[in-house]
Amino acid sequence: MKITKIETFTDSKFIKGVTLVKVTTNTNNFGWGQISPYNSDISTEVLYRQVAPFVIGADISNLNELGNLIDFVYDKQHKFPGTYMCRALGGLDTAIWDLHGRLINKPVCDLIGNCKTKKIRVYGSSMKRQITPADEVDRFKKLIDDSGFNAFKFRIGSEVGGNLDEWEGRTEEIISLMGKNFANIDLLVDANSCYTPDKAIEIGKILESNGIIHYEEPCPYWEHEWTKKVTENLDLNITGGEQDNSITIFKKYIDEKIVNIIQPDILYLGGIDRTLRVAKYASKKNMICTPHAANMSLVTIFTLHLLAAIENAGPYLEYSIEGEDFYPWQNNIYYDYPKVDNGYITIDDKPGWGIEPNKNWLEKANYKMFDGK
Ligand SMILES: [Mg+2]
Repeated sequence: MKITKIETFTDSKFIKGVTLVKVTTNTNNFGWGQISPYNSDISTEVLYRQVAPFVIGADISNLNELGNLIDFVYDKQHKFPGTYMCRALGGLDTAIWDLHGRLINKPVCDLIGNCKTKKIRVYGSSMKRQITPADEVDRFKKLIDDSGFNAFKFRIGSEVGGNLDEWEGRTEEIISLMGKNFANIDLLVDANSCYTPDKAIEIGKILESNGIIHYEEPCPYWEHEWTKKVTENLDLNITGGEQDNSITIFKKYIDEKIVNIIQPDILYLGGIDRTLRVAKYASKKNMICTPHAANMSLVTIFTLHLLAAIENAGPYLEYSIEGEDFYPWQNNIYYDYPKVDNGYITIDDKPGWGIEPNKNWLEKANYKMFDGK
């Protein structure tokens, strides 16, 4: 079973949107994957220039050998490591997993591992810093009433903010309000690379005294020693890894206990195969993996299946609570967006990723194809 054609459909309206990738074989099997949002048009160019020429004709009969193909391409392009290569590979990898699921009529999670459960708890993930603390509390309360959410993440500091808050006092106010209002809810925060170690520890103490259990990306993510200092000086879980795409760096995070919980993003890291390598390495070292999945494109579906299948899955799936105002590009890409019921999403028995691309979305997208001819 050899790859004969790669097709891509790139959001034509929103530059922040995604690219869907379709891989077809000489046996007329096919699968759908996705390239991560944000400049997916550029990642798609990389797919055609630096990935597709090396994989047309490749035999993908054995899913256990997918990693060799991914490494072969990555090694061929060793002068171009980094996010765009990994994003392009992520589109290819996720399409091949879907293809294999469709081939044997099983959901991808069953191909990845032995699923103990297909009912996955979610945490509602806020992406907003412009929202007032009071409005954020109201939003969470409504989601608890409507869909039974029992865990949330909110934002503190400002993004790569050099210790500055979104506005003065917002961080202290939102931590205190959340702690008071949601004593029985798991509360997580994300600082998105805001703080120096001393400031991060100072804020961390406030988080601990308000019952927050997960403190994501407290320091600029590339400053490993800074993050490690925070981890060593606080009791709550320090988490990170979403921005990284080097498996070597992930091993360093895990070996040196820079964080307590590792958070790869499947589509930033290069797909399921590469993410599994990180998750399994973490598992060997007794570290939990709670991947990053910050929008309702297919990354959330991919992460849902991964969490069901890995041994060291964190307690919940990241589930964005943002709608059209924040993510206008994420609607109607595929049919059957997963819905939260009583705080959980259940994976059904549909093959592959269990979704089909939305025909209207495909028709409006920018189409490209490569078959090696
Ligand atoms: Mg984050």
